[in-house]
Amino acid sequence: MSLGEFDLIAKYFDRPAQRAALGIGDDCALLALSPGMQLATSCDMLVEGRHFLSTVAPERLGHKALAVNLSDLAACGAEPLAFTLALALPSAEEAFLERFSRGLLALADAQGCELIGGDTTRGPLNICISVFGQVPAAGAGALLRSGAQAGDDLYISGTVGDARLALEAFRGTLRLGGGDFESVRAAMEMPQPRVALGLALRGVASSAIDLSDGLLGDLSHVLRRSGVDAVVEVDTLPRSAVLQAQPLAVQRLCALSGGDDYELLFTASPDCASQVSAASRIAGVALTRIGRIVPRAGGRQSPHTALIDADGHAVIHVAASFDHFRT
Ligand code: ADP
Ligand code: MG
Repeated sequence: MSLGEFDLIAKYFDRPAQRAALGIGDDCALLALSPGMQLATSCDMLVEGRHFLSTVAPERLGHKALAVNLSDLAACGAEPLAFTLALALPSAEEAFLERFSRGLLALADAQGCELIGGDTTRGPLNICISVFGQVPAAGAGALLRSGAQAGDDLYISGTVGDARLALEAFRGTLRLGGGDFESVRAAMEMPQPRVALGLALRGVASSAIDLSDGLLGDLSHVLRRSGVDAVVEVDTLPRSAVLQAQPLAVQRLCALSGGDDYELLFTASPDCASQVSAASRIAGVALTRIGRIVPRAGGRQSPHTALIDADGHAVIHVAASFDHFRT
């Protein structure tokens, strides 16, 4: 006999609340913030065929659904508290639910982010998570997109481009050896949200964003909100050994316009360089300076990013970033 809605919730998602005042089981969950903190909240939906392929292992899907939400908290410098899960499932398939919930809750436990409620319905597989975190209301508070200043250095965490390389391999536009394929596939399916880094960058970074749609597009959001332009030195972009083995055009496409990286892009004054290094050590994540922020070029409304190579020559790059209604 198949599992009913409430049995399913009880078996796979309901665990005793640790941090929340009230967890799953009532009409609302209750969550207390620490004194002086404000709520940071964000919501991300994952749709099959759009955000993930049917071939993904359920554990990884559970991980990624929460990881992309935690990445938004990280970009704001918020400390994760809790999340809700709205789930549409074609059927109550226990083999799937067991693996999906295991991957989801493993990341939740690792990040101290508690599942406090949700909604469950039958329908095409669709996962929508809302995440709740806290940031100080005053002082070194939330990291925003709007604080970049001309003269700031531009940094990114980790490496970029592997998730797009994996997508191209799935699409069949290029071929990768078995080990290389598994490694970039893991980058695509199991992104690591940079929560500790976001916390360490409070009071250090002047602006931040997480890389979900591709570096150039996400950078343009920061530039637009901050009223500035940028110069990116494309040869400095941190890339995995697997990506570096690809032709230069593929490397640049994946690193600049790839999407699904879930690294942090942030700006900081050159005066803060040693604090940026300290944040890297504290969070255990490599940081690379990839360029700088410059004043908005005279009279232009829209932001501009100049791409240069190691010799300072302009690099032509036409691909923009991912857009759900254009791609
Ligand atoms: P209501 O009808 O009052 O909206 P539901 O009957 O949908 O509540 O859900 C019962 C309880 O189970 C609620 O506390 C809800 O937050 C929780 N819940 C439902 N689906 C999920 C899920 N997928 N994950 C976690 N909690 C869930
Ligand atoms: Mg109700």
